[in-house]
Amino acid sequence: MTPNETGHPLPHDVAASLAHVKLRIAAAAREAGRDPAAVNLVAVAKTHPASTIEIAIKAGHRLFGENRVQEAAGKWPDLKARYPDIALHLIGPLQTNKLREAIRLFDTIETLDREKLARALVAERDQGRLLPRCFIQVNIGEEVQKAGIALAEVDGFIRLCRDELALPIDGLMCIPPQDEAPAPFFALLGEIARRNDIATLSMGMSCDYEIAVKLGATHVRVGSAIFGARGPA
Ligand SMILES: *Cc1c(COP(=O)(O)O)cnc(C)c1O
Repeated sequence: MTPNETGHPLPHDVAASLAHVKLRIAAAAREAGRDPAAVNLVAVAKTHPASTIEIAIKAGHRLFGENRVQEAAGKWPDLKARYPDIALHLIGPLQTNKLREAIRLFDTIETLDREKLARALVAERDQGRLLPRCFIQVNIGEEVQKAGIALAEVDGFIRLCRDELALPIDGLMCIPPQDEAPAPFFALLGEIARRNDIATLSMGMSCDYEIAVKLGATHVRVGSAIFGARGPA
């Protein structure tokens, strides 16, 4: 909801915003000589109720992201039952004690960022559970407070996860530092992916998804540009 001059909230038009973001993604892809169909829009629905999400579903969208397991567990089982072709991505930090629930809920875990979690995934697989596909989150700006595998460790971690543990790794994900130009960080993620033979890149949010598309993003994670501003999390 956005306040107008009278202070009354105006409903945010989710369907129109979704269509607008899709057009801008396609335009950015074409400008970069890329196939617009190669860019997947992960509509980030965190903090928004099922009724709002359903507007995007009814507009034909099927790929969504959530950053908290608990919140997703409250909203998505019912939506997924009604719309079975929905795919859900976990884009926030994952504690091992929430792993089993995350495996049940999510089609892709974008935030595999440490060995303990990789080994916990192996233990779940060993107990017969089908694992979601996994992206490795890279701490691309080497920020102390941020999740993600350190740059110096990323090649070794990919080798461990993909080659030794045979986890279903097929992507990299990053969140660049907030107050810096994102392009060099997106380019660096692309470079890490290329040298490790990884084809999938999750990068770009509401403020910078077009730049990410130009630099090779296969997944952009867009929340507020589709669903409107979020209240305090
Ligand atoms: C919330 C979130 C997004 C979307 O952010 P917007 O700025 O609302 O587009 C993308 N990625 C991650 C990891 C997030 O937590």
